[in-house]
Amino acid sequence: MSRKFALAGAAALALTMTPLAAGTASAATEQEAAVTTVYYSTASAPTFRSVINAGAANWNRSVTNVRLVERNSGASLRYTEGNDPRGSYASTNGHGSGTIFIDYTQARQYNPTRIAAHETGHALGLPDHYSGPCSELMSGGGPGPSCTNAVPNATERSRVNQLWANGLVATNASERVYETVYGY
Ligand SMILES: [Zn+2]
Repeated sequence: MSRKFALAGAAALALTMTPLAAGTASAATEQEAAVTTVYYSTASAPTFRSVINAGAANWNRSVTNVRLVERNSGASLRYTEGNDPRGSYASTNGHGSGTIFIDYTQARQYNPTRIAAHETGHALGLPDHYSGPCSELMSGGGPGPSCTNAVPNATERSRVNQLWANGLVATNASERVYETVYGY
């Protein structure tokens, strides 16, 4: 009985150790190969360029499968600004393409970096979740104007990594518009 156990244990150990070394290397390679770059333009949102970039940097520090890079020519994601009674919104396929609008009035009331990072979250595939806490980026204006968190939480990070595991291949490429009276 104890000999059987010892043998089984040794076999399991051997099985665990061999693929572990190989698995670590291939996982690193896969992760590196899976990074997709999304180019975004701030040319039409000059007022918010720094907060847009700060929001993008927060995402870049948080996820591994997609990377946001500012480039005004040939960008698939465009930021714009202006006055709209509907507030800020994102019109996007949820996979790196579309237009994000940042509303002046809303950006004075709420933290503009959080707004930018939140709208960018839509472009990366996340839906709104207004009932969530301030620690959740996609809760948007739900927690109120005092919430200044502009960083996605662990659940949001892993969801975006999951959505971008296959690069630019979108699971659902239909255009969706995210906007609401509750705030971004
Ligand atoms: Zn939203």
